[in-house]
Amino acid sequence: MSKQKSALIIGASRGLGLAIVQELLERGWKVTGTVRDEKRTQVHALAEQHQEHLEIEHVDITETNQIAALKNRLSGRNFDLLFVNAGITNERYETIGEVSTEEFVHVMVTNSLSPMRVVEQFTENVRLGGTVGIMSSGQGSVADNEKGEFEVYRASKAALNMLMRSFAARRGKDYALLLLAPGWVKTDMGGSNAKFTIEEVIHDIVDTILAQEGGRGLQYLDRFGKTVRW
Ligand code: NDP
Repeated sequence: MSKQKSALIIGASRGLGLAIVQELLERGWKVTGTVRDEKRTQVHALAEQHQEHLEIEHVDITETNQIAALKNRLSGRNFDLLFVNAGITNERYETIGEVSTEEFVHVMVTNSLSPMRVVEQFTENVRLGGTVGIMSSGQGSVADNEKGEFEVYRASKAALNMLMRSFAARRGKDYALLLLAPGWVKTDMGGSNAKFTIEEVIHDIVDTILAQEGGRGLQYLDRFGKTVRW
């Protein structure tokens, strides 16, 4: 029998992160899913049903001391997949003319700097040839920005894409690196007007993540595995 695959999913409490965890469990993976704090979330309920295969860890990715503490706790552990799902938006979608410096910095730090810090720290816990992915967005595409709305969020995902591209120049020869654009999905962030339900997209999302295994270098893909314009 082949060895059970293992994944570290950062930001698994709800929404797309939770769904990725659930889908991986259904596909026979062993999963470590992280939540931000002590409050009980939907992933805790899932862990009760999958005690052998789902473990819950804690990290707020904007806190470097928490990243370091998680790194210590997972020292010596090896994963086939690291996927950083955590992300936010500025809830009132202020334009650059309206947004406070504090809010702008908060979104940039959460969506750009922090996921990359996680990737920098935990890639060595991914076996060579494994996959290191981050949830980006089609809104991170500079080339496809015709409408200009959600400008703070867009800027944060574009910066994330650029940072991952620089990371790929350093480490892409050893890993399959992925920036994923999941589509507009009904979650707390996506809202109720979004085009797709989680159920409609999750198989394609996980198929595309898992299809990267054994590859090398960086891809920016939609959930069908089609390249997104940078
Ligand atoms: P949700 O708002 O439902 O979930 C966001 C997740 O990120 C939660 O698990 C949340 O944890 C976690 N998170 C936020 N900030 C931090 C932090 N500082 N440290 C650790 N975890 C954090 O959003 P979605 O499921 O929709 O979004 C998931 C990802 O997909 C995001 O990166 C988003 O940008 C991206 N995306 C979503 C789209 C959509 O249409 N829904 C479209 C394109 C991209 P907690 O519960 O503790 O808040």
